[in-house]
Amino acid sequence: MVIVMEAGASDEQLAAVLSKIESFGLGSHVSRGEERTIVGLIGDERPFEDTAFEALGGVERVVRILHPAKLASRDFHPADRVIRFPNGAMLGGEHVLVMAGPCAVESAEQLRETAEAVAAHGVRVLRGGAFKPRTSPYSFQGLGEKGLALLRETADDLDMAVVTEVVSPQDVAIVADHADMLQIGARNMANYELLKVAGAAGKPVLLKRGLGSTIDELLQAAEYVLAHGNEHVAVCERGIRTFETATRFTLDINAVPVLKQLTSLPVVIDPSHATGHAPLVPAVARAGVAAGADGLLLEVHPRPAEALSDGAQSLTPAQLGTVVDEVGRIADVLGRRIA
Ligand code: PEP
Ligand code: MN
Repeated sequence: MVIVMEAGASDEQLAAVLSKIESFGLGSHVSRGEERTIVGLIGDERPFEDTAFEALGGVERVVRILHPAKLASRDFHPADRVIRFPNGAMLGGEHVLVMAGPCAVESAEQLRETAEAVAAHGVRVLRGGAFKPRTSPYSFQGLGEKGLALLRETADDLDMAVVTEVVSPQDVAIVADHADMLQIGARNMANYELLKVAGAAGKPVLLKRGLGSTIDELLQAAEYVLAHGNEHVAVCERGIRTFETATRFTLDINAVPVLKQLTSLPVVIDPSHATGHAPLVPAVARAGVAAGADGLLLEVHPRPAEALSDGAQSLTPAQLGTVVDEVGRIADVLGRRIA
């Protein structure tokens, strides 16, 4: 952090700034120019608010040098990070990983039928919600622990990895017992207690961007997980709320190159929740991979019309096959490959 003093700041005002810095246990370096005095802070300033200094007399402005999401930043970790699943599937680096499955685990039969169908298209990571954060309290809320057991059993039979959502801190342990990756949903992106517990759970985390959250807020949420000991975090753009009503949300395609610039964490796109309409999903999936996404999260149901949740945005297995084929060719052009 650098503190720029006002042109006419007095020696007493400078002394007050220096003693405030000292009271925080930080060092300082004073540089006196022709017109301005600038104070550089030495040490980790992240726990302190800008206002602690801005409120002092003679201070013109405060400039932060350390990004609040330091661990997530590409400056801190320049090389692309790769998340490896126990079955060998990889998210990040040269790979483009397709993760697919039903919105919700509805029954053993539905899950198995879907998992076999997506596996037949080369998908190695099975998604499926057991704890569902539904907009209405009257909608299907998921099978809970039974759903987790079904996910694990089905995935093991097909040599697949499991990504599934956890919605509350007290469920993190049980979800981590069954899943290979914990999904933190859009509605919980800023649930900091959940992020802390998930960070300490020892499993990779797929963190979805909040519906009304900025990219910076997403990265600071990822920082919570990283700061609690977990370096295996992927961030997911799943559409944000805008004035547009033609689609369920608006996929912020800009977020892909912006995130790739700011962070070396893998970046995932969720065209299913972003569009809300299955016919739109393939085009947005292609766009996401073309923009540089490292992974796709896709909802698939053998009979979308019968789905207990998000049927309108669920692809059939055959449609998924076309998407995998098309994004595979786009990945190829970019020197990457589908994993
Ligand atoms: C999901 O992926 O099942 C989900 C609920 O997504 P989101 O949190 O992005 O709405
Ligand atoms: Mn869904």
